[in-house]
Amino acid sequence: MSEKTIAFIGAGNMTRSIISGLINSGYNPNKIIASNPSVGKLDSLRADLNIKTTQNNHQAVKEADVVVLAVKPQLMEGVCQDLASQQALDGKLFVSIAAGINHARLLEMLGGQYDLVRTMPNTPSLLSKGMTGLYAPDSMSSENKKLVEHMMASVGDTLWVTKESDIDIVIATAGSSPAYFFLFLESMQNHAVELGMSKQDSRKLVQQAMLGAAEMVCHNDHLEIGELRAQVTSKGGTTAQAVESFQASDLQSIVAKAMDAAISRAQQMS
Ligand code: NAD
Repeated sequence: MSEKTIAFIGAGNMTRSIISGLINSGYNPNKIIASNPSVGKLDSLRADLNIKTTQNNHQAVKEADVVVLAVKPQLMEGVCQDLASQQALDGKLFVSIAAGINHARLLEMLGGQYDLVRTMPNTPSLLSKGMTGLYAPDSMSSENKKLVEHMMASVGDTLWVTKESDIDIVIATAGSSPAYFFLFLESMQNHAVELGMSKQDSRKLVQQAMLGAAEMVCHNDHLEIGELRAQVTSKGGTTAQAVESFQASDLQSIVAKAMDAAISRAQQMS
């Protein structure tokens, strides 16, 4: 892996987080090149991470063994077609981090049958606490799959899916879900403030409670999440009253409906 040159097309937030993760995990910055139309982001990436940069996508791709397509989905077609029109892409491994553009469509945009891994990271990748779903066809070599897995593992955990449609489940469950948790925390914080707590104190309470709960789930993987909940819910106690109130409002259906909405949007985009 450390011998491969990786080009990032688009030097935005996700690119910065993946490159930071790669470098923190020991990847040679000289083997990383980022391309972006504006110099500002490139200057700061070069200053902070000591990587190579260019404003020319073709230049970046020419030097690369691995090409990470990291522009916004609506720009992907133009970027890919432009790359394909200017140079031979044979032998390069492509990685897409874009939401909602499927494998076949990406290859169509690139105009050839290249090795391509579709990935779906999430924003906690910025803190190396990301969760990335990966999909590649069975025909791809395990060497190429491992290479992309290693790259995404540098910003968090990874999970391969065997059916491409499962990437939509990854989107609904991990890609979009940091915002669901923010919404939940925000709702709790707002009510704590309504009850008289300061904003600052209520934030401290909710954020530490969520962090602790997440750690408990991570450290008890022999227990179902429902068992953990039962363990902290004494019969007739305060937690039981709150949990019963959530269940009376059918929290499960509310969550399912929201996840289905995310999946349906992902399907519309692809
Ligand atoms: P971003 O807007 O921060 O970065 C995109 C970059 O692409 C920008 O710096 C922009 O200047 C650059 N760009 C625009 N046109 C270009 C061109 N023709 N050639 C090269 N670069 C060009 O976006 P982001 O949040 O980093 O997202 C990048 C991709 O990652 C998107 O496809 C998004 O769907 C996907 N993604 C993002 C997240 C997230 O949470 N941010 C999560 C999963 C997937």
